[in-house]
Amino acid sequence: MKTDKCEFCEGEMKQQRILARFRYKGQTIYVENVPAWVCNKCGEEYFDASVYKRLEEIARQRERIQRAISFPLAEFDMTTA
Ligand SMILES: [Zn+2]
Repeated sequence: MKTDKCEFCEGEMKQQRILARFRYKGQTIYVENVPAWVCNKCGEEYFDASVYKRLEEIARQRERIQRAISFPLAEFDMTTA
């Protein structure tokens, strides 16, 4: 794990919880409260490898959830029969 300077502007990297936005299979996924390294000068965000792996897991899960909730849902109603 590196806690050094930003590779773009030499700013200081600070660990923060952020709203992470990343691309997964052509979709933009938002995940809240993700621990990330944020540059205090340019705002560049880095994730630790383990965090990034977890984000991918969440994205995969989310894909499953989305498929589940987009399943056609209709209410059974006796009165219209
Ligand atoms: Zn920077």
